[in-house]
Amino acid sequence: MKTIKHVIISGFVVSLLLLTGSCTKETNDPAANGFSNLLNVAADGTTLLVGSNLGTCLSEDLSFTDDELETLLHMKEEEKLARDVYAFLYEKWGIPVFSNIGKAEDTHLNAVLYLLKNYGEEYTQTGEPGVFANADFQELYAQLVEKGSGSVEAAMETGALIEELDIKDLEEYLEVVENENINVVFENLLRGSRNHLMAFNRQLENLGVEYVPVYITQEEFDQIVSTPNETGNGNQSGNQQRRRQYRGGR
Ligand code: ZN
Ligand code: ZN
Repeated sequence: MKTIKHVIISGFVVSLLLLTGSCTKETNDPAANGFSNLLNVAADGTTLLVGSNLGTCLSEDLSFTDDELETLLHMKEEEKLARDVYAFLYEKWGIPVFSNIGKAEDTHLNAVLYLLKNYGEEYTQTGEPGVFANADFQELYAQLVEKGSGSVEAAMETGALIEELDIKDLEEYLEVVENENINVVFENLLRGSRNHLMAFNRQLENLGVEYVPVYITQEEFDQIVSTPNETGNGNQSGNQQRRRQYRGGR
């Protein structure tokens, strides 16, 4: 309750105060001193990834194995999918949650592009809105914009579905990817997706819709939507994050 009250009271300053999101990498730069943070979490759960802090949070070696590059290309398409579908749904419905979270997705996409910056155009180009290099994402985009055009409820469910898919894929990648830079970015994208899933679920609750998860278990869904927004450092739900996210050997 204390946390909830805190968030409500300091709603206006909360997005400034919670410039967080932790470089999980230890830094010996005293200027950084715990504030070279990657996430900017607004009171409504919109979670921006602060691109200007990526340089401090990541090591300089941005070279990857072929498998890692595949992983990054997949998440590039997936973050673009989120951004482009939310842009479409904002056009369609004019509801701010889609433009707010859509802007956040642009920062997520840019974080993935940052990792790919030393590779060629094939890796770093993103194409027109709604146009995807990967045929599966092209198909999924078509399905999602159709679904989300049906009603406001269906649009919010589409948002929840996209965030769930992000969560599932990021969790799977985090199990296998060992590259520290990718881990730092993906862990923060994952926090963002959980916050966004909660934001869309709040909208659905307000509409009287009980969302049933598709890609993640009901148990995981219930845990996510009942946890305060994740900021990635020691405040708010820090303990829960550590329990949930910090795996050994890092
Ligand atoms: Zn995202
Ligand atoms: Zn998201």
